[in-house]
Amino acid sequence: MRLTEASLCGYCGEPATEIEHVIARQFFPAADHERKKNIPRIPACRACNAAKQKSEDTMGVFLTVSSSDESAKKVMEERIGRTLRKNQRIRRLIRDNLVATESGVGFGVPLDEQGEEIDFWDWLVRGLYYYELQTPMRVDEDLHIALVDVKGPLERSRPLMPVRRNVQYRTYAGKDMQTYFSVDGDRQCWLIEFRNRKILVTNVIEAGSQLEQDLHEMPRYRLSR
Ligand SMILES: [Zn+2]
Repeated sequence: MRLTEASLCGYCGEPATEIEHVIARQFFPAADHERKKNIPRIPACRACNAAKQKSEDTMGVFLTVSSSDESAKKVMEERIGRTLRKNQRIRRLIRDNLVATESGVGFGVPLDEQGEEIDFWDWLVRGLYYYELQTPMRVDEDLHIALVDVKGPLERSRPLMPVRRNVQYRTYAGKDMQTYFSVDGDRQCWLIEFRNRKILVTNVIEAGSQLEQDLHEMPRYRLSR
């Protein structure tokens, strides 16, 4: 991936000024150098890169304090300290939302704060889209982002995908992140597993489909924007 005069930002389509990782390398603490190599990189403009980094810092805090997974706790240790020092709002958010769980202390992201997590998945999918298709997704594309509650390997969630033609499977940084995706003309769907979260992102909601029904029954998971 090289930056040229003609390079456009993979997120907004404006002229690009830098090359950046679609998902920050710091999210993969256990991955060694070789494994980190296949984290996709795309051209970006400074404004998008800065906004995305902010979203990743917030997500890093959410993932770390809400996970009982040891490797996740190590994620971005340094950056989290920095984020928390800089960001009083997130500090307060964490302090006010700690809950006792069987394994100790947990953290629930309040519904009205989930927008920050949605932003993270939105950035990620737009980056992956550019990486796969070499063109930015439409900025006004209406993406529906849903938390998937299906136990077991990610493959079991595949029937939820509303676009099933030509489904591709990819892994990044070993198997730290896995994706199934399908792009069929204007229709697209992504199924992502990352740090104990399974997320479905699509611009297709078919009337009468299982997905539409699920979103209706679980409005709190209807993370669309
Ligand atoms: Zn941009």
